[in-house]
Amino acid sequence: MSSSTSSPTNSLSTLQSPSNSRCSICDDVANGCRYGVPACLGCIVFFRRSILSNKQYRCSKEGRCIIQYKSRCICRACRLQICYDVGMDPSAIQRRDVMGPRTRKSRNDVSSSESNSSAARIR
Ligand SMILES: [Zn+2]
Ligand SMILES: [Zn+2]
Repeated sequence: MSSSTSSPTNSLSTLQSPSNSRCSICDDVANGCRYGVPACLGCIVFFRRSILSNKQYRCSKEGRCIIQYKSRCICRACRLQICYDVGMDPSAIQRRDVMGPRTRKSRNDVSSSESNSSAARIR
């Protein structure tokens, strides 16, 4: 007799899991519709950070940058503009998200390549 206990732990709370939806901003794989439209984690974080820190970005190409998955970091001004254009809702951002996220899951790959501006300066 062999006890097979190799069942895939598929108990992640399925909150709508948009498996095949795309980010409205950069066409990456969407992570959720947190702020009203499907968006990838990178754009969600970018949007939230931009709003909360009240960033004023400047575009060097008169707002004509093409934001795609590979080039979404080239211009923050245009990226943020697209966030608004596609209908991301700033009022949906809660400051609680920043202070202490209750649902922490897979927080490792939260756009580590983009968050090097104000990274932790531990000293
Ligand atoms: Zn995106
Ligand atoms: Zn631009």
